[in-house]
Amino acid sequence: MRPTGALHLGHYHGVLKNWVRLQAEYECLFFVADWHALTTHYNEPQIISENVWGMLTDWLAAGVDPAQATLFIQSRVPEHAELHLLLSMCTPLGWLERVPTYKDQQDKLADRDLATYGFLGYPLLQSADILIYRAAHVPVGEDQVPHVELTREVARRFNHLYGRETDFEEKAQEAAKKLGSKRAKLYAELRDRFQEKGDDEALEQGKALLQEAQNLTMDDRELLFGYLEGGRRLILVEPQALLTEASRMPGLDGQKMSKSYNNTIAMREHPDAIVQKMRKMPTDPARVRRSDAGNPERCPVWQFHEVYSDEARRQWVREGCTSAGIGCLECKQPLIDAVLEEQKIFLDRAKPYEEDPDLLRGIVADGSERARDLARSTMRDVREVMGLDYS
Ligand code: SF4
Repeated sequence: MRPTGALHLGHYHGVLKNWVRLQAEYECLFFVADWHALTTHYNEPQIISENVWGMLTDWLAAGVDPAQATLFIQSRVPEHAELHLLLSMCTPLGWLERVPTYKDQQDKLADRDLATYGFLGYPLLQSADILIYRAAHVPVGEDQVPHVELTREVARRFNHLYGRETDFEEKAQEAAKKLGSKRAKLYAELRDRFQEKGDDEALEQGKALLQEAQNLTMDDRELLFGYLEGGRRLILVEPQALLTEASRMPGLDGQKMSKSYNNTIAMREHPDAIVQKMRKMPTDPARVRRSDAGNPERCPVWQFHEVYSDEARRQWVREGCTSAGIGCLECKQPLIDAVLEEQKIFLDRAKPYEEDPDLLRGIVADGSERARDLARSTMRDVREVMGLDYS
């Protein structure tokens, strides 16, 4: 996530709640993308130092747990930059120019000069961010799927160019023995089914078998993945997009909650300010007087009820609004209570980090070191196959 401002309820409901769920199911790495912030804000570098620690505090306030997930800062793992550089050697320019967000973002951020090398290359930097951890999945919204697809293409091309080894087959057969005879036999059968008949199901079963095998080293597993798919070593792993549902969290005016629309509630905003903002929320424009009946479908407040209220309360709103039985402030009150209650949990979780910033520094130092260990292992292989491990 790029550190470009305080996180708001749109980030919480759209992204962070999902991270909290994922950290219990997968081995997760979450990082502050400070270099990515520079691709669009290179002339305002102060935004990074202003927002990095606040954003990490927001993550922890949301329930992201450093005991379950690895939290770090991108620039503390310089291997990301090295892999980006090396991938740039073999990535066709046209692949980057074709990424749909490249033109979109240039149009959307027309007030910035984004005709830069860094901005064109940012999807490749994202690819390096993913590939360096040999990530299996990347949680993304629909709009980011083309970036994961690009990452898969980059990995495929890299493996094609650099994954040839003369003794690959012998090494793979040695590694297969470590699966135990029964599973080694099944692996060989699945490989034949995929390679001879193009049976995709066999490929998936073979991958699952390797994922589950406990006694393989990371190198053996890679070797066997490569042997399963073809005759090449897979140095970089093709990730899958893990689609995240789009956030239903509306802004105070009913548009998508976004800093650029000035319609946000920050996760750690002062409670008085939240009450003020919510009391001033626009309602159904046709409901001018208290005695006018309204229509929830035309009201931003109703969208908040869709996020925060149960069916019984929504029924109360529908009936009360359409019959002018309730007033708009009355309708907003349970929402104000719900948002404040949710926020209290954020504030309680954030408090120790606000009081002792060293706690946060410690979490990032540990996370960055853990991430670096993983990144170093990938880079050893990348340097070796690209001919850079000579003495
Ligand atoms: Fe909107 Fe509620 Fe007022 Fe109806 S009663 S217009 S749903 S705020």
